[in-house]
Amino acid sequence: MDNNYNPFIEALKNQKEIFGDELFEQITISVDTFNPENSQPLEIKEPKEVYIAGNSLFEDFDKCNTLDSFYDLIHNCQKCSLGTTRTNFVFGVGNPNADVMIVGEAPGAEEDKQGVTFVGRAGKLLTDILKAIKFERDDVYIANILKCRPPQNRDPLPLEVKECMPYLYKQMDLIKPKAILCLGRVAATNLLNQKISLTKMRGNIYEVHGIKTMVTYHPAALLRNPNWKRGCWEDVQKFRKLYDSLKN
Ligand code: SF4
Repeated sequence: MDNNYNPFIEALKNQKEIFGDELFEQITISVDTFNPENSQPLEIKEPKEVYIAGNSLFEDFDKCNTLDSFYDLIHNCQKCSLGTTRTNFVFGVGNPNADVMIVGEAPGAEEDKQGVTFVGRAGKLLTDILKAIKFERDDVYIANILKCRPPQNRDPLPLEVKECMPYLYKQMDLIKPKAILCLGRVAATNLLNQKISLTKMRGNIYEVHGIKTMVTYHPAALLRNPNWKRGCWEDVQKFRKLYDSLKN
């Protein structure tokens, strides 16, 4: 066992991932692995509601018509203090014409080291999650709200999000995905401008920058608490259903 493992700290991290500053709610769902074969058939209900989040592009990036040219424009960004503490700028990776965009919070230690989004164990789990709903990792585009790692993986600060979010919107403009899957409470509260728990956001369809968006757990949270894999499986099935409804 990891000598640094502290069950109390892990429990607090789990609570924060789901509820932020809200009170704890008991979750008892349990599965062994992220494997559809282990799950009971689900009745997929129609989405509960459609919400509209902010959709304005804050800056004029008109001269960039491709992701490559946009990368060239912004990869030396120093608009917030994270520009001075990062090892690498982490732009995003994947199919530039993807129909699906995956949006996370910010680079972690390994992403900062490699300059690539969702690598390591969490990245592998994300690949498995995508495969379970019949997407290859190369089919989608994966980006974060922040392009630089916050020190000690702390939550992004409002000013950092305000400065960096226009980059993500521009990536959306260039990629033109049909649907977005947002990973984790921190990414969701910032992307959707919703100050509610992840539990309350899951299952809803939002609209971000004109693009239908759903929310599920962050893969790193699933590694900490495998009991959430069943909920994630339910979420991504709903997301696949949404995507199929938008395809034509
Ligand atoms: S986090 Fe975003 S706004 Fe801040 S320096 Fe990095 S790229 Fe620029």
